[in-house]
Amino acid sequence: GPRPPAKARGGQAESGGQPTIFSKIIARSVPATILYEDDKCLVFRDVAPQAPVHFLVIPKRPIPRISRVGPQDTELLGHLLVVAARTAQAEGLADGYRLVINDGKHGAQSVYHLHLHVLGGRQLGWPPG
Ligand code: C5P
Repeated sequence: GPRPPAKARGGQAESGGQPTIFSKIIARSVPATILYEDDKCLVFRDVAPQAPVHFLVIPKRPIPRISRVGPQDTELLGHLLVVAARTAQAEGLADGYRLVINDGKHGAQSVYHLHLHVLGGRQLGWPPG
């Protein structure tokens, strides 16, 4: 039969503001395939891609999760979306793609450094699991 959906048991619990693997990717102490960088954000390929194109857009400032943002983050969040769309275009996703932000346990978040997933290059299903 069909495989169960990935991460059907939910994500990791948040563990108190520790630096994550993504801080190490920003610092270049953990390798990643980087697609774009500026002073505010970094874009790199997901190490376990769920579609032919799957990359992550992260702020350099380590906001743990989308449910923790405030009004001071408005401009940064807008920037992340613009960078996501421009990188999707550069990756050739002219037929469309999906942006995903997982939040917390029910959202199946596993890394507590805010990130936008961009998935494309195949027909995606809806709704997600
Ligand atoms: O939204 P969530 O927190 O579950 O996603 C974390 C993502 O980070 C996963 O898709 C995972 O494959 C990716 N990851 C990565 N490089 C790492 C560690 C995790 O691309 N070194």
